[in-house]
Amino acid sequence: MSDKYDVVVIGAGPAGYVAAIRAAQLGLSTACVEQWLDDKGKVRLGGTCLNVGCIPSKALLDSSHKFAEARDHLGVHGISVKGASIDVPAMLARKNKIVDQLTGGISGLFKHNGVTAISGTGKVLSGARVEVTDKDGKVQVLAAGNVIIAAGSLPVHIPPAPIDNDYIIDSTGALELTEVPRRLGVIGAGVIGLELGSVWGRLGSEVVVLEALDDFLPMMDVQIAKEAAKIFKKQGLDIRLGARVTGAKVKKGTVEVTYSVGGVEQVEVFDKLIVAVGRKPRSQELFATDSGVTLDERGYIFVNDYCETEAPHIFAVGDVVRGPMLAHKGSEEGIMVAERIAGKKAQMNYDCIPSVIYTHPEVAAVGRTEQELKADGVPYKVGLFPFAASGRALAANDSDGVVKMLAHAENDRILGCHIVGPSAADLVQQVVIAMEFGSSAEDLALTVFGHPTLSEAVHEAALAVDGHAIHVANRKKKN
Ligand code: FAD
Ligand code: AMP
Repeated sequence: MSDKYDVVVIGAGPAGYVAAIRAAQLGLSTACVEQWLDDKGKVRLGGTCLNVGCIPSKALLDSSHKFAEARDHLGVHGISVKGASIDVPAMLARKNKIVDQLTGGISGLFKHNGVTAISGTGKVLSGARVEVTDKDGKVQVLAAGNVIIAAGSLPVHIPPAPIDNDYIIDSTGALELTEVPRRLGVIGAGVIGLELGSVWGRLGSEVVVLEALDDFLPMMDVQIAKEAAKIFKKQGLDIRLGARVTGAKVKKGTVEVTYSVGGVEQVEVFDKLIVAVGRKPRSQELFATDSGVTLDERGYIFVNDYCETEAPHIFAVGDVVRGPMLAHKGSEEGIMVAERIAGKKAQMNYDCIPSVIYTHPEVAAVGRTEQELKADGVPYKVGLFPFAASGRALAANDSDGVVKMLAHAENDRILGCHIVGPSAADLVQQVVIAMEFGSSAEDLALTVFGHPTLSEAVHEAALAVDGHAIHVANRKKKN
């Protein structure tokens, strides 16, 4: 037995590193075990989010958006850009620099807060002990007052399209393509497939997205998903629904993909194929058989609302447990657990977690969808405001999309907000805050919004809930 800590965290992604920092802030002696190594063999913090997820994908989305703006959309402002070109290695280098800066930043925060980073692979033993095996095979066992498992998730791989990291790649490979594929196939029209398809589509790839389901973005509000599909189609993204991929073969420097639509087999040939069919919890080889931790039927670590596993003093947070696989969800769980270990009465509001697709325009949501409210028989009111009626959106030449606000028909409490449109991620956050404070649609309607801002679209949608929108014709007139 070597060192003893109040808290040992396994995994330094946004769930684990945040939990570790908060625990240390609260005066608990804390270690964070991470297996990821950089190319010099040193521990690499930040997990999927910083290294191969949220941050690098957003860096490429921003670069590719700027390129597409310069190539296609500045003429309307009277700006002519001739011969805009993209230097892909330079774009990747910028992305890598941001990733390095942020992962290095976590090391700095660990030092500042007194978190000990331990390089190696962690395994939970009985009695809240953690076995750590480093890259040279050296094993140490840490005694922990409490263990927080934050081992994250891995991309799902499917037998019809085995990853070869050359022609058939997963989301990690799609962040490293060194040239723009002429034709790019994407399996899966989920968040990751749409974002990565957008990056390479903007840079010039002809992108075809193959999605097995018949509905587009089924977890989204149907009206917003339909509006988003319309906009993406207008942008030239070829999204084929009801298209189940059944095989992918590399042939003469291309990938031949077979897929079935309504039982009819079809074939497409691509230069590269991105497999983006979801992620699975990384819950294998994490526990000794007598650790007391259990998994649910889908392989997630079983936890209650406080992220407590079935074993005393062992918690699990982030992608490795139920709920949306989102960085901020894991971080908040990490904070909650650290605070509860320190004796505070923290809890999470799982009804108020925003989710975003960082396409352009963005798609963002919080709370319940109209179809969920209908299914549950909850009486509701709808307020809609199109960005086409927003002065600021028009000024920016960015007026596709709509804000949809849902409020309870009787008590006016905001139940959900769904946006496709410019800066939807930041706009929906305003409603997240309002919902967190138990706001009614009228509370938002009575709030003063600066003019001209995109936020005014949120204000108008709140006004529209009771038929009071000013800058658009109301569906129902009210007093
Ligand atoms: P992870 O970030 O996966 O971190 C887990 C860490 O644990 C890893 O570093 C891993 O090496 C380590 N680990 C695992 N097992 C062990 C072990 N036994 N011992 C030691 N260490 C171990 N989410 C958003 O909210 N917004 C976005 O815009 C967004 N974009 C994304 C884009 C892409 C391309 C991808 C792939 C994901 C994206 N996500 C996004 C999802 C987000 O990255 C995850 O939800 C988030 O990283 C989960 O955090 P986590 O800490 O639970 O796990
Ligand atoms: P997400 O889980 O949001 O990242 O989305 C992944 C998407 O991939 C889901 O919508 C799945 O329906 C889709 N998918 C999974 N397997 C296949 C397949 N074989 N062919 C086409 N789409 C698939």
